[in-house]
Amino acid sequence: MSTKKHSRAGRGVADLPQVKRRRRLENLLYTRTRVAHLAAEYRSHGLDEHVELYLLQLEVEQVLADEFPDAFEAHVGNWAEEEAAAEHHPQVTTETCSLCRAIAVHNGGGSGAPLAA
Ligand SMILES: [Zn+2]
Repeated sequence: MSTKKHSRAGRGVADLPQVKRRRRLENLLYTRTRVAHLAAEYRSHGLDEHVELYLLQLEVEQVLADEFPDAFEAHVGNWAEEEAAAEHHPQVTTETCSLCRAIAVHNGGGSGAPLAA
């Protein structure tokens, strides 16, 4: 009794695995971008943690390459540029760098807020 048509109207249920897969891909790409940025920033500041972050980055990239080879191929070309853009010279302060911003805040370089109330 296999009379199930290929084009059944049961929407939603059939789409679920694909939606899940897409969400997983988006999560992986987002995680990779975040980790890669952090690794570049830590590298720029000469912090040892950049090694761990880089290893984590490679792990995420490996998962992407295994599970989503097409998306990996489509994105891998942009990653080197992104990373180069996220990195900066040790002597330079960059607004886009979260560590630079954190250091600026720590040094009291707030946006014109008075120190004493
Ligand atoms: Zn920085």
